Amino acid sequence: MTRSIRPLVAGNWKMNGLKADLAIASEVAKGYDSELKAAVDLAICPPATLLYPATAALIGSRIATGGQDCAPQASGAFTGDLSAQMLADAGAGFVIVGHSERRTLHGESNATVKAKAQAAQSALLAPIVCVGETQDERQAGKALAVVKRQLRGSVPDGAKPETLVVAYEPVWAIGTGLTPTAADVAEMHAAIRAELSRLLGKQAAVGVRLLYGGSVKPSNAAELMNVANVDGALVGGASLKAADFLAIARACG
Ligand code: PEP
Repeated sequence: MTRSIRPLVAGNWKMNGLKADLAIASEVAKGYDSELKAAVDLAICPPATLLYPATAALIGSRIATGGQDCAPQASGAFTGDLSAQMLADAGAGFVIVGHSERRTLHGESNATVKAKAQAAQSALLAPIVCVGETQDERQAGKALAVVKRQLRGSVPDGAKPETLVVAYEPVWAIGTGLTPTAADVAEMHAAIRAELSRLLGKQAAVGVRLLYGGSVKPSNAAELMNVANVDGALVGGASLKAADFLAIARACG
Protein backbone atom coordinates (compact mmCIF):
# COMPACT_ATOMS: atom_id res chain seq x y z
CA MET A 1 0.00 0.00 0.00
CA THR A 2 0.95 3.65 -0.27
CA ARG A 3 0.36 4.93 3.27
CA SER A 4 -0.72 8.42 2.21
CA ILE A 5 -3.35 7.14 -0.25
CA ARG A 6 -6.80 5.90 0.76
CA PRO A 7 -7.21 2.54 -0.95
CA LEU A 8 -10.03 1.70 -3.34
CA VAL A 9 -11.49 -1.72 -4.05
CA ALA A 10 -13.68 -1.69 -7.16
CA GLY A 11 -15.80 -4.61 -8.33
CA ASN A 12 -16.19 -5.17 -12.06
CA TRP A 13 -19.30 -7.28 -12.57
CA LYS A 14 -18.68 -7.42 -16.34
CA MET A 15 -21.73 -8.72 -18.27
CA ASN A 16 -23.19 -10.38 -15.18
CA GLY A 17 -26.14 -9.35 -13.10
CA LEU A 18 -29.91 -9.08 -13.25
CA LYS A 19 -32.20 -7.13 -10.90
CA ALA A 20 -32.15 -9.98 -8.38
CA ASP A 21 -28.37 -9.61 -8.11
CA LEU A 22 -28.75 -6.19 -6.54
CA ALA A 23 -28.94 -8.28 -3.37
CA ILE A 24 -25.15 -8.70 -3.72
CA ALA A 25 -24.69 -4.93 -3.58
CA SER A 26 -26.98 -4.70 -0.56
CA GLU A 27 -25.05 -7.46 1.18
CA VAL A 28 -21.77 -5.65 0.52
CA ALA A 29 -23.31 -2.49 1.98
CA LYS A 30 -24.35 -4.42 5.09
CA GLY A 31 -20.81 -5.68 5.60
CA TYR A 32 -19.16 -2.30 5.00
CA ASP A 33 -18.89 -1.57 8.71
CA SER A 34 -17.33 1.45 10.39
CA GLU A 35 -13.92 -0.20 10.60
CA LEU A 36 -13.88 -0.91 6.86
CA LYS A 37 -15.29 2.53 6.06
CA ALA A 38 -12.39 4.09 7.95
CA ALA A 39 -9.88 2.07 5.95
CA VAL A 40 -10.98 1.68 2.33
CA ASP A 41 -13.26 3.09 -0.39
CA LEU A 42 -15.51 0.65 -2.25
CA ALA A 43 -17.08 0.89 -5.68
CA ILE A 44 -19.29 -1.52 -7.59
CA CYS A 45 -19.37 -1.38 -11.40
CA PRO A 46 -22.46 -3.34 -12.46
CA PRO A 47 -23.70 -3.63 -16.05
CA ALA A 48 -25.18 -0.33 -17.26
CA THR A 49 -28.74 -1.67 -16.90
CA LEU A 50 -28.21 -1.91 -13.14
CA LEU A 51 -26.30 1.32 -12.59
CA TYR A 52 -29.27 3.40 -11.52
CA PRO A 53 -30.92 0.78 -9.25
CA ALA A 54 -27.54 -0.21 -7.79
CA THR A 55 -26.84 3.42 -6.94
CA ALA A 56 -30.27 3.63 -5.33
CA ALA A 57 -29.69 0.42 -3.37
CA LEU A 58 -26.40 1.81 -2.07
CA ILE A 59 -27.69 5.21 -0.95
CA GLY A 60 -26.34 5.98 2.51
CA SER A 61 -23.71 3.22 2.33
CA ARG A 62 -20.86 5.41 1.06
CA ILE A 63 -20.23 2.77 -1.62
CA ALA A 64 -19.83 4.32 -5.06
CA THR A 65 -20.96 2.86 -8.35
CA GLY A 66 -19.24 2.95 -11.70
CA GLY A 67 -19.73 2.19 -15.36
CA GLN A 68 -17.65 -0.37 -17.25
CA ASP A 69 -17.08 1.77 -20.35
CA CYS A 70 -18.15 5.10 -21.81
CA ALA A 71 -18.21 6.73 -25.21
CA PRO A 72 -15.53 9.27 -26.05
CA GLN A 73 -18.23 11.59 -27.40
CA ALA A 74 -20.54 13.67 -25.21
CA SER A 75 -23.76 12.95 -27.17
CA GLY A 76 -25.10 12.35 -30.66
CA ALA A 77 -25.77 9.64 -33.22
CA PHE A 78 -23.91 6.76 -31.58
CA THR A 79 -26.53 4.01 -31.31
CA GLY A 80 -25.96 1.71 -28.39
CA ASP A 81 -23.27 3.83 -26.74
CA LEU A 82 -23.46 5.58 -23.38
CA SER A 83 -21.81 8.90 -22.62
CA ALA A 84 -19.91 9.60 -19.42
CA GLN A 85 -22.52 12.21 -18.56
CA MET A 86 -25.27 9.58 -18.81
CA LEU A 87 -23.38 7.32 -16.42
CA ALA A 88 -22.92 10.23 -14.01
CA ASP A 89 -26.63 11.02 -14.35
CA ALA A 90 -27.42 7.40 -13.40
CA GLY A 91 -25.37 7.84 -10.25
CA ALA A 92 -21.88 6.66 -11.21
CA GLY A 93 -18.80 8.14 -9.65
CA PHE A 94 -16.32 6.02 -11.60
CA VAL A 95 -15.98 4.46 -15.03
CA ILE A 96 -13.60 1.72 -16.13
CA VAL A 97 -11.92 2.53 -19.45
CA GLY A 98 -9.52 0.45 -21.51
CA HIS A 99 -10.28 -2.87 -19.83
CA SER A 100 -8.39 -5.58 -21.72
CA GLU A 101 -11.69 -7.12 -22.80
CA ARG A 102 -12.57 -3.80 -24.49
CA ARG A 103 -9.09 -3.46 -25.96
CA THR A 104 -9.11 -7.04 -27.30
CA LEU A 105 -12.75 -7.75 -28.17
CA HIS A 106 -13.66 -4.25 -29.35
CA GLY A 107 -10.31 -3.21 -30.81
CA GLU A 108 -9.88 -0.19 -28.58
CA SER A 109 -6.61 1.65 -29.13
CA ASN A 110 -4.73 3.74 -26.60
CA ALA A 111 -6.04 6.85 -28.36
CA THR A 112 -9.63 5.67 -27.90
CA VAL A 113 -9.01 4.88 -24.24
CA LYS A 114 -7.44 8.30 -23.75
CA ALA A 115 -10.47 10.00 -25.33
CA LYS A 116 -12.79 7.98 -23.06
CA ALA A 117 -10.80 8.88 -19.95
CA GLN A 118 -10.88 12.52 -21.02
CA ALA A 119 -14.67 12.33 -21.54
CA ALA A 120 -15.03 10.75 -18.09
CA GLN A 121 -13.12 13.55 -16.38
CA SER A 122 -15.10 16.18 -18.30
CA ALA A 123 -18.28 14.58 -16.89
CA LEU A 124 -16.73 14.63 -13.40
CA LEU A 125 -16.34 10.85 -13.29
CA ALA A 126 -13.16 9.24 -12.01
CA PRO A 127 -11.75 7.09 -14.83
CA ILE A 128 -10.18 3.75 -13.90
CA VAL A 129 -7.69 3.43 -16.76
CA CYS A 130 -6.68 -0.21 -17.29
CA VAL A 131 -3.29 -1.27 -18.62
CA GLY A 132 -1.54 -4.62 -18.74
CA GLU A 133 0.62 -6.89 -20.83
CA THR A 134 -0.21 -10.22 -22.47
CA GLN A 135 1.48 -13.49 -21.54
CA ASP A 136 3.62 -13.37 -24.70
CA GLU A 137 4.73 -9.82 -23.95
CA ARG A 138 5.75 -10.79 -20.40
CA GLN A 139 7.59 -13.86 -21.61
CA ALA A 140 9.44 -11.73 -24.14
CA GLY A 141 10.57 -9.40 -21.34
CA LYS A 142 8.47 -6.55 -22.73
CA ALA A 143 5.93 -6.12 -19.91
CA LEU A 144 7.32 -2.85 -18.54
CA ALA A 145 7.76 -1.29 -21.98
CA VAL A 146 4.24 -2.31 -23.08
CA VAL A 147 2.55 -0.93 -19.97
CA LYS A 148 4.52 2.34 -20.10
CA ARG A 149 3.51 2.76 -23.73
CA GLN A 150 -0.14 2.11 -22.85
CA LEU A 151 0.06 4.69 -20.08
CA ARG A 152 1.60 7.33 -22.31
CA GLY A 153 -1.12 6.69 -24.89
CA SER A 154 -4.10 6.32 -22.55
CA VAL A 155 -3.71 8.92 -19.80
CA PRO A 156 -5.27 12.20 -20.95
CA ASP A 157 -3.09 15.27 -21.32
CA GLY A 158 -3.84 17.48 -18.38
CA ALA A 159 -5.54 14.61 -16.51
CA LYS A 160 -6.87 15.64 -13.11
CA PRO A 161 -4.69 13.49 -10.84
CA GLU A 162 -7.11 13.71 -7.91
CA THR A 163 -9.71 11.63 -9.73
CA LEU A 164 -7.44 9.53 -11.93
CA VAL A 165 -7.18 5.82 -11.08
CA VAL A 166 -4.87 3.42 -12.94
CA ALA A 167 -5.43 -0.33 -12.79
CA TYR A 168 -2.57 -2.68 -13.68
CA GLU A 169 -4.25 -5.82 -14.97
CA PRO A 170 -1.97 -8.36 -16.65
CA VAL A 171 -4.16 -9.81 -19.40
CA TRP A 172 -2.99 -13.33 -18.57
CA ALA A 173 -4.11 -12.95 -14.95
CA ILE A 174 -7.69 -11.90 -15.68
CA GLY A 175 -10.13 -14.67 -14.87
CA THR A 176 -7.43 -17.35 -15.00
CA GLY A 177 -6.52 -17.85 -11.34
CA LEU A 178 -2.94 -16.87 -12.21
CA THR A 179 -1.24 -13.89 -10.57
CA PRO A 180 2.16 -12.27 -10.95
CA THR A 181 4.60 -12.60 -8.05
CA ALA A 182 4.58 -9.84 -5.46
CA ALA A 183 8.02 -8.81 -6.76
CA ASP A 184 6.68 -8.47 -10.32
CA VAL A 185 3.72 -6.40 -9.10
CA ALA A 186 6.08 -4.18 -7.07
CA GLU A 187 8.33 -3.63 -10.08
CA MET A 188 5.39 -2.80 -12.35
CA HIS A 189 3.63 -0.48 -9.92
CA ALA A 190 6.87 1.42 -9.24
CA ALA A 191 7.35 1.78 -12.99
CA ILE A 192 3.76 3.02 -13.40
CA ARG A 193 4.25 5.60 -10.63
CA ALA A 194 7.49 6.76 -12.28
CA GLU A 195 5.85 7.03 -15.70
CA LEU A 196 2.95 9.01 -14.21
CA SER A 197 5.53 11.36 -12.65
CA ARG A 198 6.93 11.99 -16.10
CA LEU A 199 3.44 12.52 -17.56
CA LEU A 200 1.75 14.52 -14.80
CA GLY A 201 4.57 15.77 -12.60
CA LYS A 202 5.91 14.16 -9.45
CA GLN A 203 3.56 15.84 -7.00
CA ALA A 204 0.47 14.85 -8.98
CA ALA A 205 1.64 11.27 -9.54
CA VAL A 206 2.06 10.49 -5.84
CA GLY A 207 -1.69 10.91 -5.30
CA VAL A 208 -2.93 8.70 -8.15
CA ARG A 209 -4.47 5.43 -6.93
CA LEU A 210 -2.81 2.42 -8.56
CA LEU A 211 -4.97 -0.69 -8.38
CA TYR A 212 -3.86 -4.23 -9.06
CA GLY A 213 -6.36 -6.44 -10.92
CA GLY A 214 -6.30 -10.04 -12.12
CA SER A 215 -7.56 -13.04 -10.13
CA VAL A 216 -7.62 -11.22 -6.80
CA LYS A 217 -9.30 -13.47 -4.22
CA PRO A 218 -9.59 -13.51 -0.44
CA SER A 219 -6.71 -16.03 -0.36
CA ASN A 220 -4.17 -13.82 -2.18
CA ALA A 221 -5.46 -10.31 -1.44
CA ALA A 222 -3.34 -9.63 1.64
CA GLU A 223 -0.11 -10.48 -0.16
CA LEU A 224 -1.00 -8.41 -3.23
CA MET A 225 -2.38 -5.44 -1.29
CA ASN A 226 0.75 -5.24 0.87
CA VAL A 227 2.97 -4.57 -2.13
CA ALA A 228 4.41 -1.05 -2.33
CA ASN A 229 2.45 1.29 -4.63
CA VAL A 230 -0.60 -0.98 -4.69
CA ASP A 231 -3.47 1.23 -3.53
CA GLY A 232 -6.31 -1.24 -3.87
CA ALA A 233 -7.78 -3.74 -6.30
CA LEU A 234 -9.98 -4.05 -9.36
CA VAL A 235 -11.86 -7.29 -8.79
CA GLY A 236 -13.78 -9.25 -11.41
CA GLY A 237 -15.13 -12.69 -10.53
CA ALA A 238 -14.74 -12.37 -6.77
CA SER A 239 -16.81 -9.17 -6.73
CA LEU A 240 -19.92 -11.23 -7.51
CA LYS A 241 -19.75 -12.81 -4.05
CA ALA A 242 -20.32 -10.24 -1.30
CA ALA A 243 -18.33 -12.20 1.27
CA ASP A 244 -15.31 -12.49 -1.04
CA PHE A 245 -15.46 -8.84 -2.07
CA LEU A 246 -15.61 -7.76 1.57
CA ALA A 247 -12.75 -10.10 2.50
CA ILE A 248 -10.62 -8.49 -0.23
CA ALA A 249 -11.56 -5.04 1.08
CA ARG A 250 -10.50 -6.11 4.59
CA ALA A 251 -7.08 -7.04 3.22
CA CYS A 252 -6.59 -3.34 2.42
CA GLY A 253 -7.38 -2.24 5.96
C1 PEP B 1 -11.27 -7.82 -14.30
O1 PEP B 1 -11.98 -8.26 -15.18
O2 PEP B 1 -11.07 -6.60 -14.20
C2 PEP B 1 -10.67 -8.76 -13.38
C3 PEP B 1 -9.71 -8.36 -12.60
O3 PEP B 1 -11.18 -10.05 -13.40
P1 PEP B 1 -10.83 -11.25 -12.38
O4 PEP B 1 -10.73 -10.66 -10.98
O5 PEP B 1 -11.97 -12.19 -12.51
O6 PEP B 1 -9.52 -11.81 -12.80
